[in-house]
Order: sequence, then C-alpha cells, then structure tokens
Amino acid sequence: MLDISAVSVAYGQHRALSDAALTVGRGEIVVILGANGAGKTSLLKAIAGIVPCLPGKNVILSGRDLSRLPAHEIVEAGLASVPEGRGIFGELTVAENLLLGANPKRARGSEAARRQQVLSLFPRLNERLPQMVRTMSGGEQQMVAIGRALMSNPDILLLDEPSLGLSPLLVRELFAALRQVRETGVGLLLVEQNARESLALADRGYLIENGRIVGSGTAQALQSDPAVRRAYLGGI
Ligand code: ATP
Repeated sequence: MLDISAVSVAYGQHRALSDAALTVGRGEIVVILGANGAGKTSLLKAIAGIVPCLPGKNVILSGRDLSRLPAHEIVEAGLASVPEGRGIFGELTVAENLLLGANPKRARGSEAARRQQVLSLFPRLNERLPQMVRTMSGGEQQMVAIGRALMSNPDILLLDEPSLGLSPLLVRELFAALRQVRETGVGLLLVEQNARESLALADRGYLIENGRIVGSGTAQALQSDPAVRRAYLGGI
C-alpha cells in the first residue's frame, strides 16, 4: 500500500538519510530499527512531508503519488503521523485533541464513530475526556496522540518511538492496541529502539545505520539473525 524509494535527507552539509526504500502493506506492522542518530526520525518525517528531501523522492500510497504534496495534503491522502514527543496539545482536553484529529476532510462526518473506535481501543481515555492533556501520564498522552492520529481515518500510521519512556506494562498495553489497529487494515510503520518488543509485534523490519537501510526481513528472521541479536537484542 505504501511504497517509498529514493528518499534522501540532508541538513545543510550533513546527509542524514541516503536513498531509503521500503514498503508497508495493508494491515501490516513494519518496524525500523537503528541506533541513535541513524536517521529513523528523518525517514518518518521525509515520508510525512515534514522535512525537505533531496530530489528524486518517491512516496506512493495506494497508487497515488504523494512525493510532492505538502504535509497537510499527505494527511488528507491517508497518511497520519504520531511524532516523537507526541505532537499533542497539552493545554487542550482529551476530547478537544481527538476532535482536532478529525479535521481532515477525509474524516469529517465520521467523527462520532471514530471517537468510539478510539475509546474502545483505549478505554482509559473514556473517563479522561475532559482532562487537560498536559496533566496526564506519559502513557496516557501517547494514547491521546495515537487516538488523535486515528481520528483522521488513516490508511497508514507512522509512529516515532511510541514506547519511549513507558513502563513495560504500558508498552504491552500500547502494543496490544496497535495489533487491534492492524486488524482494521491500517498499515503501521514504527521506529523503535525497543527492538525486542517491537520485533515481537511487527510482521517485518528494516535496519538503518548511518542514514542507510542496511538490512530487512520478516520479524522472525531478524529476531534470529546473529548480527541483529548482537546489535539490538543484547545477545550473541
Ligand atoms: P534518535 O533515535 O536519536 O532520535 P534517529 O535515528 O531518529 O535518532 P534522526 O533524528 O533522523 O536520527 O537524525 C539523523 C541525523 O541527522 C543525526 O546525526 C542528527 O543529528 C541529524 N539531524 C536531525 N535533525 C536535524 C536538524 N534539524 N538539523 C541538523 N541535523 C539534524
């Protein structure tokens, strides 16, 4: 469903990403693993149209070319992001954040049904609808951020380190919710440092080093690859 190639990002003289290519299918969870500074966030931002790319970028979603669209039109086309740091409005309530997520035209008219879907995915948001988001725990804020992105009725959801800073219990809860999102046919592309948990969640993965995709495979194959075990799973 999502098919990208030739994605390169430079910040001034610094090349953060070179010629990245990947695919995400309908209802598929794909994880990008890499060390700090490897270029993972730059890759997600490039796909979402948030950072300028070097010429040649191809981003195709369900046959539609998004390569030259501005960020808000990319959301309209069905690609939503949950950025690192969550990108939610702390001074607004949970209910207001969710409503803002339904602003794209593709979501209008189905706000109530989508809100219901988000609240059944994250039942603990139900009691928190009037709460100001900045007063919530990190895990709850992450739920709001994912809920807000889902309100836009996406075909593909990009998530930048959703498990960052969460307790093991909350990570399990969050990843269980992401499995449910997959069941609805949405494709998920996530960046993670938590390799063990995210490979257990994902269908496939890509490895990124120094701005280049250097490997890929099914999550199962990556889990048993000696180099992956050494670099990301703390094993031999
Ligand atoms: P982390 O896991 O630490 O978030 P990452 O894999 O997501 O890292 P990126 O954030 O994509 O990596 O950064 C890749 C490289 O680009 C790094 O060397 C980083 O310092 C550099 N970089 C990122 N954003 C900018 C920017 N706005 N200006 C200049 N350099 C940047």
